[in-house]
Amino acid sequence: MSEPLPAEDPTPPSAGEKIEAGAGDSHSAEAEAGGGFHVVVAGGGVAAMETVLALADLAPPSTRVTVLAPNEELVYRPLTVREPFSYGPAKRYPLADIAAHAGAQLRRDTLEWVDPAKRTIHTHSGGPLSYDALVLALGALAHPRYEHALTIDDAHMDETLHGLVQDIEGGYVKSLALVAPGRMAWPFPIYELALMSAGRAFDEDVELAITIVTPEDAPLAIFGSAVSEAVRDLLAESGIEVLTSAYAEVPAAGQLNISPGGRSLKVDRIVALPELYGPPVRGIPLGEHGFIRIDPHGRVHGVGPIYAAGDATEFALKYGGVAAQQADAAAESIAALAGAAIEPAPFHPTIHGVLLTASRPRYLTARITGGHGFSSEIADTPTWSPPNKIVARYLAPYLEESDRSAVGGLAAETDTDGERRE
Ligand SMILES: Cc1cc2nc3c(=O)[nH]c(=O)nc-3n(C[C@H](O)[C@H](O)[C@H](O)COP(=O)(O)OP(=O)(O)OC[C@H]3O[C@@H](n4cnc5c(N)ncnc54)[C@H](O)[C@@H]3O)c2cc1C
Repeated sequence: MSEPLPAEDPTPPSAGEKIEAGAGDSHSAEAEAGGGFHVVVAGGGVAAMETVLALADLAPPSTRVTVLAPNEELVYRPLTVREPFSYGPAKRYPLADIAAHAGAQLRRDTLEWVDPAKRTIHTHSGGPLSYDALVLALGALAHPRYEHALTIDDAHMDETLHGLVQDIEGGYVKSLALVAPGRMAWPFPIYELALMSAGRAFDEDVELAITIVTPEDAPLAIFGSAVSEAVRDLLAESGIEVLTSAYAEVPAAGQLNISPGGRSLKVDRIVALPELYGPPVRGIPLGEHGFIRIDPHGRVHGVGPIYAAGDATEFALKYGGVAAQQADAAAESIAALAGAAIEPAPFHPTIHGVLLTASRPRYLTARITGGHGFSSEIADTPTWSPPNKIVARYLAPYLEESDRSAVGGLAAETDTDGERRE
């Protein structure tokens, strides 16, 4: 464990204000703590846990890793969309188990600000902590965009949407709009909620008109044309209308004004995605909307050995599989910095996704080929393994194994074919 350093400058900078990594760059956490290259990973989500597991595999054995997170569990966020449909809560995994598996030390704390010149972070409850490399895996902040709509909050998905699903089942809600604000948050939830709501209305033999309003050029446009066309057909088969390249305002409950075109829509309920912003990290430069700008190896420019991965970064797609691939790129780069004989590979995303529907899921893949377009595939059966929602080189097999060895052999909640609980 790293010894706390005395706080020489107790005045933190404001969010986004950068402190130059100057002469103090020669400072070494190894020298301070007396052993091992010290990596601090701030965060307790997919990006942080993938980083920790990747470092355990790639970094030299003398590397010490400290994880700083306020949460005790990794929540399998993609499966929270099923909670309002009576599938039970999404699976949770203790961070302490993942950290122990990776030989990392876990501290329940939050990062307050970074002093790159001294290679030190300041935490909420502890003293300053020095690092040889720092990984910011802090996720994004979600803010409701519309006062008069129900905003998706995956930490309270059942609480937020169970009443709506019951009203659909009872035939009290006959029209529903699902809206993505101008900047797309996570791409899947509105499509999955639309398809699952349509399925539930069909099962209960009640009337339900569903409209999706999205700024995307086509449904799930980021996955490319083959996926978009197949998803458009799937939505059409379920009677779901999609308004693409569309922006909505919600002046009152149940009322949507859509532009361009000036169309108004009255519906019984409106459910919206939140708008995402970058984390309020003080001491490093922040880009548009507070997101952290990184290079293809995950490194933040001009602040020494500081890396970032996941929803906190400026990458346009906020997605668990992307978070994991960025974490792998950062871990490779850090491992090389710590002395491992590897050539760090840059982040070059191949995105896999499992789209939940009212019946069987669909398996999507897109390969982004550096500005030259991308290939796009959709399949009825998995084309990768393990075929989970969050595709992560190290974390996915770890969670799969953890599900398998769970006491009493409980059904794995990461299994996307899971049964509905009545
Ligand atoms: C409903 C829903 C469905 C989704 N479906 C999919 C899907 O099907 N497939 C997919 O790949 N992705 C999906 N996603 C997106 C995916 O969940 C996110 O992209 C992923 O969780 C991002 O991981 P992250 O580690 O960057 O951020 P997060 O998961 O947000 O984790 C951030 C972590 O940082 C911690 N933290 C915050 N501030 C501090 C601080 N100051 N100090 C220390 N720690 C801090 C938080 O407590 C948290 O543990 C979905 C998301 C939602 C909400």
